[in-house]
Amino acid sequence: MARTVVGVAANLCPVDAEGKNIHSSVSCRFAESIRQVGGLPLVIPVGDESVVRDYVEMIDKLILTGGQNVHPQFYGEKKTIESDDYNLVRDEFELALLKEALRQNKPIMAICRGVQLVNVAFGGTLNQEIEGHWQGLPFGTSHSIETVEGSVVAKLFGKESQVNSVHRQSIKDLAPNFRVTAIDPRDQTIEAIESIDEHRIIGLQWHPEFLVNEEDGNLELFEYLLNELFFQNFWNVRFLRKRLNSDKNWRNSTKKLEKNEGKRYDRKEEILEE
Ligand code: MN
Repeated sequence: MARTVVGVAANLCPVDAEGKNIHSSVSCRFAESIRQVGGLPLVIPVGDESVVRDYVEMIDKLILTGGQNVHPQFYGEKKTIESDDYNLVRDEFELALLKEALRQNKPIMAICRGVQLVNVAFGGTLNQEIEGHWQGLPFGTSHSIETVEGSVVAKLFGKESQVNSVHRQSIKDLAPNFRVTAIDPRDQTIEAIESIDEHRIIGLQWHPEFLVNEEDGNLELFEYLLNELFFQNFWNVRFLRKRLNSDKNWRNSTKKLEKNEGKRYDRKEEILEE
């Protein structure tokens, strides 16, 4: 059986002192975490917007990763801080990648900069500089979170948990398509969100890839992305097609699904019951 392919959007990382030799790279912790839950990681290098369609067609899920600040021009503000930690090319490429993933109904996990980018893409804004959320290296935890009952992170982390914190920006105005699912109780910083519309997006302000196998809930986030975050279309294409030629019942249930076009399914079980 084919493995679930998880696209991981890479950063542009200079590896020499002068910044001339730039690598398309992402922490190997992503690949390790995805493989650990049975998926196949695929690194997506920053490129021209014309390639996003082909990349998104190749993947089942998308992870938007950490890195530079999102440029405030994308949420209609001017830069108010002293920082050169921006990359417009990456912003534009990942916004196109996100838009295409939505168009093709591919579920998304957005991490750190990723969740900020998602919020901006849907019309939200960011705090350009916050205090008390930069622990340096992402290993180990540095503050607690409180989760919102009934949310994905509440299910995976319980009411309270500890997370790492490697961000200087945070969500200010949340886009209307989302709800807050975890906050830092010290200062109410938004630490996790999830989509409340037809899209399937989960966003974390911390870096779960560095806490897999160390703090409960983080490996489960990757399991959730692989096994529970689905669109109806995903199952039509990848799950039902495989059974079409071997089982009449499945052929019938597919017809039934086609009749119900437009109805969304959150979980595999709902389709299996059809
Ligand atoms: Mn934090």
